[in-house]
Amino acid sequence: MEKRGYSSAVRLHGWNTPGVCGLDNSGNSCYFNAVLQCLCSTVPLVEHLLNKDTHKELCRVAQVFVRLLEEMWLGSSPSCAPVEARSVLCSILPQFNNYSQQDAQELLIFLLNALHDDLKKSQDQNKNCATAAGESTIVSHLFEGQLSYMRLCMHCEHQAHSTQSFTVLSLPIPTSTTKCSIQDCLSLFFEQTTLTGGEQMLCSVCRQRRETAVLTCLDKPPEILVLHLKRWVKQHHLFRVTFISHNLDKQMELCPEWLKGSNHTGSLNMGHYTALCHNTLTRAWHCFDDSAVREVQDNLVQSPNAYILLYTRKPFQKEKSTDVCSFCFHLPS
Ligand SMILES: [Zn+2]
Repeated sequence: MEKRGYSSAVRLHGWNTPGVCGLDNSGNSCYFNAVLQCLCSTVPLVEHLLNKDTHKELCRVAQVFVRLLEEMWLGSSPSCAPVEARSVLCSILPQFNNYSQQDAQELLIFLLNALHDDLKKSQDQNKNCATAAGESTIVSHLFEGQLSYMRLCMHCEHQAHSTQSFTVLSLPIPTSTTKCSIQDCLSLFFEQTTLTGGEQMLCSVCRQRRETAVLTCLDKPPEILVLHLKRWVKQHHLFRVTFISHNLDKQMELCPEWLKGSNHTGSLNMGHYTALCHNTLTRAWHCFDDSAVREVQDNLVQSPNAYILLYTRKPFQKEKSTDVCSFCFHLPS
C-alpha cells in the first residue's frame, strides 16, 4: 500500500518517471525544448538509441542526443538542461545559433536529418556490424514515408508518375471556415489540383506546356506520421482556427492514440511552445512547458493551438520479456 502511495506521488510530480523530465529554458528555447520532448517520447527511437549495441561508435549529434535521453529516461531529476544538445546543434546548424524564437517545424526536420546522417555515418564506419543496412537508419525507418504523384496532361491524357519521400507533411488549413478537423486539412492536401497558366507542366508526349491535373496519394505511410499545420499566412499572422477533432484514425487507419504534439501560442517571432506527450509506461499524458511538467487528463489533450502532431501507426508497448533496453523502462509499481 505504501508503495502505491509513493507511486502516485511520483506520477503527480513526474519525478523518477522515466521519460518524464522537464527541460530548462536557456532563453527563447521553448521551441527547441518542445521538439526535443516530442522526439524523446518516441519510444522506438529511444529504445534504439539507448541500446548498448547502438551507441558503441556514434557520431557527435547522436552521442549528444543519447546523453540527453540517458538523463531524461535514466536520471532522477525532475528536469535537466539540454545545453550540450543545443550547442552541438547550433554548431552544425548556425541558423539556430541565436536566441530569437525559431520555428519548431524547421528544427524538427533539421534535427531528424542531422540524426539520420549521423547514424548513417556511424553505420558506415561500423560496416562489420551485421545490423548496418544500406541507407536506412532508425530515423528513416520510423519517420520516412512516401508520396506518389500522378500528373495527367489535360490535352492528350498522358500520365506521368513519380514518388517523393517525406518526413513531415505540411498541411494547408481550409480558409473558408473557422472550425475544421485534421481530416479537412488532409483532404485539402490530397485534393486533386489543376495546374494552369504559368504553372502548366511540360508534357513529354505533346512536347509543350499543358494544363496538368495532379493527384497526390500517400503511397507508403511512415511508422510515425508527423503533421505540420500551416498556421502562418502572409506577414506571419497566426491563422486562427479551431480544431474540432483529431480522429484521424478512421481515415488513415492510424493508431487512435494521439501520440504527442507541439502547441504554439502567439506569433511566429514571439510566443511560446509547449509539448504534450504520452508516456508509454504510466499511460499518462504530460504537458511539458520547459522545466515545468504536469500530468494532463486524456480528454484535455486536444488543443486548439496544435501546430505539430505526431501519430503512431501502432501503440508503443513494452513487453516484459523484451530484453532491449528493458532496464530503462522500469515502471514504478
Ligand atoms: Zn500531352
